[in-house]
Amino acid sequence: MMGEILVFVEHDQGQLSPSAGEALTAARELGERLSQKTAAVLVGQAAEGLGTMCAEYGVQLAYCLTSPVLSDYGPETWGQAIVELANQCSPSVILSVGTDRGNEVLAQVAARLGAPFAANSTVVQRGDAWEITRVQWGGSLLEDIVVDSELLIASYNHHSIEPAFFPGDNEIEVRTVGVELDPTLGRTVIRDRVTLTEGVTLSTASVVVSGGRGVGSADGFAQLEELADLLGGRVGCSRAVTNNGWRSHADQVGQTGTRIAPEIYIACGISGAIQHWVGAMASKNILAINTDREANMVTKAGYAVIADLHEVIPAVIEEVKRRRS
Ligand SMILES: Cc1cc2nc3c(=O)[nH]c(=O)nc-3n(C[C@H](O)[C@H](O)[C@H](O)COP(=O)(O)OP(=O)(O)OC[C@H]3O[C@@H](n4cnc5c(N)ncnc54)[C@H](O)[C@@H]3O)c2cc1C
Repeated sequence: MMGEILVFVEHDQGQLSPSAGEALTAARELGERLSQKTAAVLVGQAAEGLGTMCAEYGVQLAYCLTSPVLSDYGPETWGQAIVELANQCSPSVILSVGTDRGNEVLAQVAARLGAPFAANSTVVQRGDAWEITRVQWGGSLLEDIVVDSELLIASYNHHSIEPAFFPGDNEIEVRTVGVELDPTLGRTVIRDRVTLTEGVTLSTASVVVSGGRGVGSADGFAQLEELADLLGGRVGCSRAVTNNGWRSHADQVGQTGTRIAPEIYIACGISGAIQHWVGAMASKNILAINTDREANMVTKAGYAVIADLHEVIPAVIEEVKRRRS
Protein backbone atom coordinates (compact mmCIF):
# COMPACT_ATOMS: atom_id res chain seq x y z
CA MET A 1 0.00 0.00 0.00
CA MET A 2 3.08 2.28 0.13
CA GLY A 3 2.87 5.57 -1.61
CA GLU A 4 -0.74 5.77 -2.67
CA ILE A 5 -2.65 9.02 -3.10
CA LEU A 6 -5.50 9.47 -0.63
CA VAL A 7 -8.27 11.84 -1.66
CA PHE A 8 -10.70 13.13 0.95
CA VAL A 9 -14.20 12.99 -0.54
CA GLU A 10 -16.39 15.67 0.97
CA HIS A 11 -19.97 14.87 1.90
CA ASP A 12 -22.59 15.90 4.39
CA GLN A 13 -24.53 13.07 6.02
CA GLY A 14 -23.96 10.91 2.95
CA GLN A 15 -24.79 13.69 0.43
CA LEU A 16 -21.81 14.07 -1.90
CA SER A 17 -20.52 17.64 -2.09
CA PRO A 18 -20.48 19.21 -5.60
CA SER A 19 -16.71 19.70 -5.10
CA ALA A 20 -16.10 15.93 -4.76
CA GLY A 21 -15.86 15.48 -8.55
CA GLU A 22 -13.04 18.05 -8.64
CA ALA A 23 -11.12 16.26 -5.89
CA LEU A 24 -11.50 12.81 -7.47
CA THR A 25 -10.53 14.08 -10.95
CA ALA A 26 -7.47 15.91 -9.62
CA ALA A 27 -6.36 12.87 -7.61
CA ARG A 28 -6.82 10.45 -10.50
CA GLU A 29 -4.86 12.72 -12.87
CA LEU A 30 -2.05 13.16 -10.33
CA GLY A 31 -1.98 9.38 -9.80
CA GLU A 32 -1.63 8.84 -13.55
CA ARG A 33 1.22 11.37 -13.79
CA LEU A 34 3.08 9.86 -10.82
CA SER A 35 2.16 6.22 -11.64
CA GLN A 36 0.62 5.84 -8.19
CA LYS A 37 -2.65 4.31 -7.07
CA THR A 38 -5.44 6.59 -5.91
CA ALA A 39 -7.85 5.77 -3.12
CA ALA A 40 -10.90 7.74 -2.04
CA VAL A 41 -11.41 8.40 1.67
CA LEU A 42 -15.02 8.36 2.83
CA VAL A 43 -15.46 9.41 6.45
CA GLY A 44 -18.32 7.94 8.48
CA GLN A 45 -20.81 5.13 7.96
CA ALA A 46 -23.18 7.52 6.14
CA ALA A 47 -20.68 7.75 3.27
CA GLU A 48 -20.49 4.02 2.63
CA GLY A 49 -22.83 4.21 -0.37
CA LEU A 50 -20.75 6.87 -2.14
CA GLY A 51 -18.24 4.37 -3.57
CA THR A 52 -20.16 3.97 -6.83
CA MET A 53 -20.04 7.72 -7.46
CA CYS A 54 -16.27 7.73 -6.80
CA ALA A 55 -15.91 4.94 -9.38
CA GLU A 56 -17.40 7.21 -12.05
CA TYR A 57 -14.27 9.35 -11.76
CA GLY A 58 -12.00 6.34 -12.31
CA VAL A 59 -10.98 5.70 -8.69
CA GLN A 60 -10.88 1.94 -8.04
CA LEU A 61 -10.44 1.81 -4.27
CA ALA A 62 -12.21 3.59 -1.41
CA TYR A 63 -11.63 3.39 2.34
CA CYS A 64 -14.76 3.99 4.39
CA LEU A 65 -13.71 5.01 7.90
CA THR A 66 -16.21 4.09 10.59
CA SER A 67 -16.55 4.78 14.29
CA PRO A 68 -19.52 5.71 16.51
CA VAL A 69 -17.75 9.09 16.95
CA LEU A 70 -18.06 9.77 13.19
CA SER A 71 -21.86 9.95 13.13
CA ASP A 72 -21.78 13.60 11.94
CA TYR A 73 -19.21 16.12 10.68
CA GLY A 74 -16.53 17.34 13.05
CA PRO A 75 -13.13 18.65 11.89
CA GLU A 76 -11.19 17.11 14.78
CA THR A 77 -12.77 13.65 14.52
CA TRP A 78 -12.67 13.55 10.70
CA GLY A 79 -9.06 14.78 10.73
CA GLN A 80 -7.98 12.18 13.32
CA ALA A 81 -9.80 9.40 11.41
CA ILE A 82 -7.77 10.24 8.28
CA VAL A 83 -4.60 10.30 10.40
CA GLU A 84 -5.42 6.76 11.65
CA LEU A 85 -5.75 5.60 8.03
CA ALA A 86 -2.54 7.38 6.99
CA ASN A 87 -0.69 5.64 9.83
CA GLN A 88 -1.79 2.30 8.38
CA CYS A 89 -1.13 2.89 4.68
CA SER A 90 1.70 5.51 4.54
CA PRO A 91 0.36 7.60 1.62
CA SER A 92 2.60 9.88 -0.42
CA VAL A 93 -0.13 12.50 -0.86
CA ILE A 94 -3.37 13.43 0.91
CA LEU A 95 -5.57 15.68 -1.24
CA SER A 96 -8.86 17.55 -1.06
CA VAL A 97 -10.53 20.55 -2.67
CA GLY A 98 -10.00 23.85 -0.84
CA THR A 99 -13.58 24.33 0.29
CA ASP A 100 -14.12 25.48 3.88
CA ARG A 101 -14.57 21.86 4.96
CA GLY A 102 -11.76 20.47 2.77
CA ASN A 103 -9.22 22.94 4.16
CA GLU A 104 -10.50 22.58 7.72
CA VAL A 105 -10.14 18.78 7.71
CA LEU A 106 -6.74 18.73 5.98
CA ALA A 107 -5.41 21.42 8.35
CA GLN A 108 -6.33 19.04 11.19
CA VAL A 109 -4.63 16.14 9.41
CA ALA A 110 -1.46 18.17 8.75
CA ALA A 111 -1.23 19.47 12.31
CA ARG A 112 -1.75 16.01 13.78
CA LEU A 113 0.85 14.41 11.47
CA GLY A 114 3.28 17.34 11.75
CA ALA A 115 3.35 17.55 7.94
CA PRO A 116 3.30 20.64 5.64
CA PHE A 117 -0.04 21.66 4.11
CA ALA A 118 -0.27 23.55 0.81
CA ALA A 119 -3.80 24.97 0.65
CA ASN A 120 -5.60 26.24 -2.47
CA SER A 121 -3.11 24.90 -5.03
CA THR A 122 -3.60 25.18 -8.77
CA VAL A 123 -0.59 23.09 -9.86
CA VAL A 124 0.92 20.12 -8.01
CA GLN A 125 3.86 18.32 -9.57
CA ARG A 126 6.81 16.25 -8.47
CA GLY A 127 10.40 17.08 -9.44
CA ASP A 128 13.23 16.53 -6.93
CA ALA A 129 10.71 17.90 -4.43
CA TRP A 130 7.03 18.91 -4.67
CA GLU A 131 6.58 21.97 -6.90
CA ILE A 132 3.34 23.76 -6.22
CA THR A 133 1.57 26.88 -7.40
CA ARG A 134 -1.10 28.12 -5.06
CA VAL A 135 -3.52 30.98 -4.75
CA GLN A 136 -2.82 33.58 -2.08
CA TRP A 137 -4.47 36.81 -0.94
CA GLY A 138 -7.92 35.84 -2.09
CA GLY A 139 -6.76 35.14 -5.64
CA SER A 140 -4.76 38.30 -6.36
CA LEU A 141 -1.42 36.45 -6.14
CA LEU A 142 -0.15 33.12 -7.46
CA GLU A 143 2.71 31.80 -5.34
CA ASP A 144 5.24 29.15 -6.48
CA ILE A 145 6.51 27.02 -3.61
CA VAL A 146 8.73 23.98 -3.18
CA VAL A 147 7.78 21.46 -0.50
CA ASP A 148 10.49 18.99 0.45
CA SER A 149 8.59 16.37 2.37
CA GLU A 150 7.88 12.66 1.94
CA LEU A 151 4.20 13.24 2.63
CA LEU A 152 2.43 16.08 0.82
CA ILE A 153 -0.88 17.36 2.11
CA ALA A 154 -2.54 19.69 -0.38
CA SER A 155 -5.91 21.10 -1.36
CA TYR A 156 -6.78 22.22 -4.88
CA ASN A 157 -8.23 25.68 -5.26
CA HIS A 158 -12.01 25.32 -5.55
CA HIS A 159 -13.17 25.50 -9.20
CA SER A 160 -9.62 25.20 -10.58
CA ILE A 161 -10.23 21.59 -11.72
CA GLU A 162 -12.85 20.62 -14.28
CA PRO A 163 -14.56 17.44 -12.96
CA ALA A 164 -14.34 14.66 -15.58
CA PHE A 165 -15.98 11.24 -15.51
CA PHE A 166 -13.69 8.38 -16.46
CA PRO A 167 -14.99 6.51 -19.51
CA GLY A 168 -15.78 2.80 -19.31
CA ASP A 169 -17.31 0.33 -16.92
CA ASN A 170 -15.69 1.40 -13.70
CA GLU A 171 -15.55 -0.85 -10.65
CA ILE A 172 -14.58 0.12 -7.13
CA GLU A 173 -13.64 -1.86 -4.05
CA VAL A 174 -14.91 -0.25 -0.85
CA ARG A 175 -12.92 -1.33 2.23
CA THR A 176 -14.51 -0.55 5.57
CA VAL A 177 -11.86 0.47 8.11
CA GLY A 178 -12.96 0.72 11.75
CA VAL A 179 -10.99 3.46 13.52
CA GLU A 180 -10.53 3.89 17.28
CA LEU A 181 -11.31 7.48 18.18
CA ASP A 182 -11.37 9.16 21.57
CA PRO A 183 -14.95 10.51 22.02
CA THR A 184 -13.58 13.67 23.69
CA LEU A 185 -12.16 14.63 20.27
CA GLY A 186 -15.65 15.63 19.19
CA ARG A 187 -15.26 19.23 20.33
CA THR A 188 -16.89 20.84 17.28
CA VAL A 189 -20.39 19.53 16.78
CA ILE A 190 -23.11 20.55 14.36
CA ARG A 191 -26.18 21.60 16.34
CA ASP A 192 -28.41 22.67 13.47
CA ARG A 193 -28.48 22.91 9.68
CA VAL A 194 -30.20 25.94 8.20
CA THR A 195 -31.11 25.97 4.50
CA LEU A 196 -30.58 29.51 3.27
CA THR A 197 -31.52 28.90 -0.35
CA GLU A 198 -34.01 26.54 -1.92
CA GLY A 199 -33.15 25.00 -5.28
CA VAL A 200 -30.17 26.35 -7.23
CA THR A 201 -27.55 28.08 -5.09
CA LEU A 202 -25.24 30.90 -6.12
CA SER A 203 -22.16 28.66 -6.01
CA THR A 204 -23.71 25.92 -8.16
CA ALA A 205 -25.92 27.95 -10.56
CA SER A 206 -25.08 27.57 -14.25
CA VAL A 207 -26.22 31.13 -14.95
CA VAL A 208 -25.58 34.08 -12.61
CA VAL A 209 -26.98 37.54 -13.34
CA SER A 210 -25.09 39.92 -11.07
CA GLY A 211 -25.63 43.60 -10.37
CA GLY A 212 -23.32 46.28 -9.05
CA ARG A 213 -23.59 49.91 -7.98
CA GLY A 214 -24.67 50.71 -11.54
CA VAL A 215 -28.05 49.06 -10.85
CA GLY A 216 -28.79 52.15 -8.75
CA SER A 217 -31.23 50.80 -6.13
CA ALA A 218 -32.69 47.70 -4.49
CA ASP A 219 -35.75 48.03 -6.76
CA GLY A 220 -33.48 48.05 -9.82
CA PHE A 221 -32.75 44.34 -9.15
CA ALA A 222 -36.30 43.37 -10.22
CA GLN A 223 -35.09 43.34 -13.85
CA LEU A 224 -32.12 41.15 -12.93
CA GLU A 225 -34.42 38.76 -11.02
CA GLU A 226 -36.67 38.48 -14.05
CA LEU A 227 -33.75 37.71 -16.38
CA ALA A 228 -32.24 35.19 -13.94
CA ASP A 229 -35.62 33.43 -13.60
CA LEU A 230 -35.99 33.23 -17.38
CA LEU A 231 -32.52 31.69 -17.71
CA GLY A 232 -32.94 29.33 -14.73
CA GLY A 233 -30.18 31.15 -12.87
CA ARG A 234 -29.54 33.11 -9.69
CA VAL A 235 -28.96 36.76 -8.90
CA GLY A 236 -25.59 37.81 -7.49
CA CYS A 237 -24.16 41.23 -6.64
CA SER A 238 -21.05 43.20 -5.75
CA ARG A 239 -20.07 44.43 -2.32
CA ALA A 240 -21.07 47.99 -3.19
CA VAL A 241 -24.60 46.59 -3.38
CA THR A 242 -24.49 44.75 -0.04
CA ASN A 243 -22.85 47.79 1.58
CA ASN A 244 -25.81 49.87 0.36
CA GLY A 245 -28.23 47.32 1.85
CA TRP A 246 -29.81 46.59 -1.57
CA ARG A 247 -29.18 42.81 -1.32
CA SER A 248 -28.17 40.41 1.42
CA HIS A 249 -24.57 39.27 1.87
CA ALA A 250 -25.62 35.75 0.79
CA ASP A 251 -25.81 37.14 -2.78
CA GLN A 252 -22.35 38.73 -2.80
CA VAL A 253 -19.78 37.41 -5.26
CA GLY A 254 -16.11 37.87 -4.47
CA GLN A 255 -13.28 37.54 -2.04
CA THR A 256 -15.52 38.14 0.96
CA GLY A 257 -18.56 36.61 -0.71
CA THR A 258 -19.21 33.47 -2.75
CA ARG A 259 -16.86 32.10 -5.40
CA ILE A 260 -18.81 31.02 -8.42
CA ALA A 261 -18.12 29.08 -11.63
CA PRO A 262 -21.24 29.34 -13.81
CA GLU A 263 -21.44 28.63 -17.53
CA ILE A 264 -22.55 32.25 -18.03
CA TYR A 265 -21.88 35.24 -15.79
CA ILE A 266 -23.78 38.40 -16.71
CA ALA A 267 -22.18 41.31 -14.85
CA CYS A 268 -24.41 44.39 -14.93
CA GLY A 269 -23.02 47.72 -13.74
CA ILE A 270 -20.03 46.07 -12.01
CA SER A 271 -16.59 47.65 -12.42
CA GLY A 272 -14.70 44.37 -11.81
CA ALA A 273 -12.50 45.32 -8.85
CA ILE A 274 -9.97 42.59 -8.01
CA GLN A 275 -11.92 41.56 -4.90
CA HIS A 276 -14.99 40.96 -7.07
CA TRP A 277 -13.05 39.39 -9.93
CA VAL A 278 -11.50 36.63 -7.77
CA GLY A 279 -15.00 35.38 -7.01
CA ALA A 280 -16.12 35.46 -10.65
CA MET A 281 -13.01 34.55 -12.62
CA ALA A 282 -13.82 30.83 -12.81
CA SER A 283 -16.94 31.64 -14.91
CA LYS A 284 -16.80 29.91 -18.31
CA ASN A 285 -18.30 32.85 -20.26
CA ILE A 286 -18.70 36.44 -19.12
CA LEU A 287 -21.00 39.10 -20.53
CA ALA A 288 -20.40 42.59 -19.12
CA ILE A 289 -23.05 45.29 -19.42
CA ASN A 290 -21.47 48.60 -18.54
CA THR A 291 -21.49 52.23 -19.66
CA ASP A 292 -17.69 52.39 -19.29
CA ARG A 293 -15.75 50.52 -22.00
CA GLU A 294 -12.56 50.81 -19.90
CA ALA A 295 -14.07 49.09 -16.84
CA ASN A 296 -12.04 46.05 -15.70
CA MET A 297 -15.01 43.76 -16.07
CA VAL A 298 -15.45 44.85 -19.69
CA THR A 299 -11.78 44.29 -20.56
CA LYS A 300 -11.83 40.83 -18.97
CA ALA A 301 -15.18 39.69 -20.34
CA GLY A 302 -15.53 37.59 -23.51
CA TYR A 303 -18.61 39.65 -24.49
CA ALA A 304 -19.62 43.19 -23.61
CA VAL A 305 -22.45 45.61 -24.25
CA ILE A 306 -21.45 49.24 -23.71
CA ALA A 307 -24.74 50.83 -22.74
CA ASP A 308 -27.10 51.61 -19.86
CA LEU A 309 -28.10 48.32 -18.19
CA HIS A 310 -31.63 49.65 -17.60
CA GLU A 311 -32.09 49.67 -21.38
CA VAL A 312 -30.14 46.49 -22.17
CA ILE A 313 -31.71 44.09 -19.64
CA PRO A 314 -35.37 44.74 -20.63
CA ALA A 315 -34.34 44.32 -24.29
CA VAL A 316 -32.64 40.97 -23.50
CA ILE A 317 -35.70 39.82 -21.51
CA GLU A 318 -38.00 40.71 -24.39
CA GLU A 319 -35.81 38.89 -26.91
CA VAL A 320 -35.59 35.71 -24.77
CA LYS A 321 -39.40 35.72 -24.39
CA ARG A 322 -39.92 36.36 -28.11
CA ARG A 323 -37.69 33.44 -29.09
CA ARG A 324 -39.43 31.10 -26.66
CA SER A 325 -42.97 31.94 -27.69
C1 LIG B 1 -10.99 43.59 1.87
C2 LIG B 1 -11.98 43.85 0.77
C3 LIG B 1 -12.81 42.83 0.38
C4 LIG B 1 -13.74 43.04 -0.65
N1 LIG B 1 -14.54 42.00 -1.04
C5 LIG B 1 -15.37 42.20 -2.09
C6 LIG B 1 -16.20 41.14 -2.57
O1 LIG B 1 -16.20 40.01 -2.04
N2 LIG B 1 -17.00 41.38 -3.63
C7 LIG B 1 -17.07 42.59 -4.26
O2 LIG B 1 -17.83 42.74 -5.21
N3 LIG B 1 -16.31 43.63 -3.80
C8 LIG B 1 -15.49 43.45 -2.73
N4 LIG B 1 -14.77 44.52 -2.28
C9 LIG B 1 -15.05 45.86 -2.81
C10 LIG B 1 -14.40 46.14 -4.16
O3 LIG B 1 -13.09 46.65 -3.93
C11 LIG B 1 -15.21 47.17 -4.96
O4 LIG B 1 -15.33 48.34 -4.20
C12 LIG B 1 -16.60 46.71 -5.35
O5 LIG B 1 -16.55 45.44 -5.97
C13 LIG B 1 -17.21 47.72 -6.33
O6 LIG B 1 -18.53 47.34 -6.62
P1 LIG B 1 -19.19 47.78 -8.00
O7 LIG B 1 -18.40 47.26 -9.14
O8 LIG B 1 -20.62 47.42 -7.93
O9 LIG B 1 -19.13 49.38 -7.92
P2 LIG B 1 -18.26 50.40 -8.73
O10 LIG B 1 -16.82 50.11 -8.65
O11 LIG B 1 -18.71 51.75 -8.28
O12 LIG B 1 -18.68 50.20 -10.25
C14 LIG B 1 -19.93 50.50 -10.76
C15 LIG B 1 -19.90 50.20 -12.27
O13 LIG B 1 -21.20 50.40 -12.82
C16 LIG B 1 -21.06 51.04 -14.09
N5 LIG B 1 -22.34 51.70 -14.30
C17 LIG B 1 -22.85 52.78 -13.64
N6 LIG B 1 -24.10 53.06 -14.08
C18 LIG B 1 -24.37 52.13 -15.06
C19 LIG B 1 -25.51 51.89 -15.87
N7 LIG B 1 -26.63 52.63 -15.77
N8 LIG B 1 -25.44 50.85 -16.77
C20 LIG B 1 -24.35 50.09 -16.90
N9 LIG B 1 -23.23 50.29 -16.12
C21 LIG B 1 -23.27 51.30 -15.21
C22 LIG B 1 -19.87 51.96 -13.93
O14 LIG B 1 -19.30 52.27 -15.18
C23 LIG B 1 -18.95 51.09 -13.05
O15 LIG B 1 -18.10 50.31 -13.87
C24 LIG B 1 -13.84 44.32 -1.25
C25 LIG B 1 -12.99 45.33 -0.85
C26 LIG B 1 -12.06 45.12 0.16
C27 LIG B 1 -11.16 46.24 0.58
